[in-house]
Order: sequence, then C-alpha cells, then structure tokens
Amino acid sequence: MKKLLILVGVLVIVASWFGTLWAADTLEMVKKKGVLVAGVKDSTPGFGFVDEKTREIVGYDVDFVKAIAKKLGVKLELKPVTSASRMPQLTEGNIDIIAATMTATPERAKQIDFSLTYFFTGQKFIVKKGTVKSLADLDGKKIGTAKGSTSEQNAAKALPKATILSFDDYPQAFLALQQGKVFAVTTDESILANLLGRAPNKEQFEIPEIQISDEPYGLGMRKGDKNFADFVNKTLLEMEKSGEAKRIFDRWFGPTSAAPLSRGKFKITEGQRVTEGK
Ligand code: GLU
Repeated sequence: MKKLLILVGVLVIVASWFGTLWAADTLEMVKKKGVLVAGVKDSTPGFGFVDEKTREIVGYDVDFVKAIAKKLGVKLELKPVTSASRMPQLTEGNIDIIAATMTATPERAKQIDFSLTYFFTGQKFIVKKGTVKSLADLDGKKIGTAKGSTSEQNAAKALPKATILSFDDYPQAFLALQQGKVFAVTTDESILANLLGRAPNKEQFEIPEIQISDEPYGLGMRKGDKNFADFVNKTLLEMEKSGEAKRIFDRWFGPTSAAPLSRGKFKITEGQRVTEGK
C-alpha cells in the first residue's frame, strides 16, 4: 500500500512537471529561473560563430537574443543547435527560443511560432569562378548544403537532376567545395557571403546572381506561447525604433565587415510575420 502511494505521488509530481513544461508560459518560466536559454548556431559566420579571441559564440543572432534577455532582466545561456536539431530542441523544452538563421515558413509554422521577420535574405550558390552563368549550369551536379534546411528543399525543387549532399553545417559543405567534392554550395546569400568573405582563397570563388527563394528569418518559439511571443515582438519593434536593430546589422554586415551586405529597405515591422496559413 505504502509503495503504491509513493508511486502515485511520484506520478503526480512527474505529470505536473510535464504539465508546466508543455503548457508553459515561457515568459513567466524564464523570469522565474532568471535565465533565457537560446538555441544558436556556433559555426555560421556572421550569425552565430565562435570568436577566435574570446572563444565565445557571437554574431547577429546572438546580439538579438542578448537584447531580449537584457530587456527581460535575466542572464543569457547559449546552446549550440544545427539546422536539423533546432526545432526538436525547442519543442522538447531544452531551449526557450531559436535564433539560428531560421527561415520562417508556413510549413514550419505548423509546429512552432515565429516572431516578426528580423532579417531578410534569399537563397543563392557559391561556385568556382566562371563555372556558372544560369541555373541550368547547376542541374545534374553535386550540390552541398546543410541537413534540415530550407536550402536543401529549395535546391531539390529548383534542380531536379542535381544530387544534393547535406552536411551538418555550412563550413563543412564549403570545405567539400574547396576539395572539389561538390560543384556548388547553396544556402542563404547572407551565409554564403560570410563563408566566402572569410575564406583565405576567396578570389577563386563567386556567388552568381542566381536566386531561387526568399528567406525571411524569424525567432522560433513554442506553439501558442503567446505572452512570450508578444514580448519578443514588442522588443524587436523597439529595437528597430531605437536604431539598435540597424546597429546590430551594421556591426556584422556593415561596409567594414568581413561580408558587407545591404539592409536595403528592410525594417522590422508589425506586418511581417509568417504563420501557418501564409
Ligand atoms: N535559412 C535557411 C533555413 O532556415 C537556411 C539556413 C539554415 O540552415 O539555418 O533552413
């Protein structure tokens, strides 16, 4: 009898623990534990990568979650994720938010919620100089990219005869290009420009003007976690208004950076959000 009571007690505790996790109001939970756990890339130059001097993970994505943690008045813990692991890490409760070069798509929005768009880019290719003039030059070839990315899916659609080789991350795919194991690497232009900009033999490669998709980045949060999503979106809009969002862009992609990019007319605005339906 006593054993049974203990068992029931343990089950009740475990069930309530799961209950709080799943029905969690992340905003409350993060405030209570005093730390925001963010899933970030650690080998995507410009966005989430290890600084050679400090050995810390730094980048555009990191600066956004830093600002959110600061606004919440809590510490920030960074957990490395890959393109393939980021959604399971979030839904399993190991991280509170994804800030990992993640495109908000209606398909992904069936499983998680996205913030307002905080970065905008499009998918392109890096190739050996002079080898590619049009999309047709890439079809039937071996193309490297990362597992679990939209890049993988878009490339398979745009190049039906190509062989898509998916690596854990983009530096590995770029290494395969340098070793002649793939003909091209494909992903977001923002990532390609950063890989190329930091490569010692960059003059051998180029990013032709061939774009196969639009890639609006969103911060990923658990589905239906409304208070947290509202807080994050409010913070993003404030960061745009105060100029902080632009300062972060310029820090990583400004004219003196390793990979100068144009922010163009991009601004974080109320209407730019990808949901299940669109
Ligand atoms: N933005 C694309 C994606 O979300 C490609 C970059 C990445 O793999 O993180 O899949």
